[in-house]
Amino acid sequence: MSARPAQPGTVYLVGAGPGDPSLLTLRAADLLAQADVLVYDALVSPAILDRVSPTAERIYAGKERGNHAIPQEDINHLLVRLAKAGKCVVRLKGGDPYTFGRGGEEVQTLSAQGVPFEVVPGVTAAAGVAAYAGIPLTHRDYAQACVFVTGHLRDGSMNLDWPGLARRRQTVVIYMGLHGLPVLCSKMIEHGLPPDWPAAIVQQGTTPNQRTVTGTLATLPKLAEAAHLKAPTLIIVGEVVKLHDKLAWHAEGR
Ligand code: SAH
Repeated sequence: MSARPAQPGTVYLVGAGPGDPSLLTLRAADLLAQADVLVYDALVSPAILDRVSPTAERIYAGKERGNHAIPQEDINHLLVRLAKAGKCVVRLKGGDPYTFGRGGEEVQTLSAQGVPFEVVPGVTAAAGVAAYAGIPLTHRDYAQACVFVTGHLRDGSMNLDWPGLARRRQTVVIYMGLHGLPVLCSKMIEHGLPPDWPAAIVQQGTTPNQRTVTGTLATLPKLAEAAHLKAPTLIIVGEVVKLHDKLAWHAEGR
């Protein structure tokens, strides 16, 4: 069945994609079916957990906003312990493990402890959400570059390269940005983008609950608040957002 059987004593750091189980890679699906132990995050959708071997032990590692069920350090060491006990460990993360997923930190610990590992990339939220919301991240008419940033607030502020982000002919994708959306939009305007610059926020992209709210840097914060969006949400800023009306194809929920 499997081209490469999963090995005991190994940690597989696997990207689950943005939610739709059809977006799992073949390698990810294969490893989920072979896992002895699954260590998974809040972002992993129930439809994907359904694909995990029924005999696998499941450990929830948390990671909702402000609520880390297990601290990162402990997750790193848990993976080492499980692998050294001879288990085939699948560490499953939403999206792609090396994109805002702390996958690098986990693998650094494994490497330092001499634990064999493999990293399986996943469809990152930006790619999945953009496709399902009908917003191409680049387009020759609108954007030749695309930047991914985290909009996570630290002490109520966001320390980003604003002049670098507030550029024309560029798409900016913001992960973890819902709570910082008002700051984000006002900073982009302050650094030179027009208030009517297109911007969108997408709730639970690629799932049946996907919802897209479009507006401008000036209007999006209020529109998003009125929409009572549910996590996770992704923000996309740039002229490519104008294509959403024509290119959206995925049925949207509420
Ligand atoms: N490693 C993940 C990102 C983890 S950070 C990846 O590559 O996608 C978590 C953030 O990802 C969320 O706050 C949200 O901004 C974004 N995100 C993940 N899945 C999403 C989805 N289905 N829809 C919208 N945003 C999503």
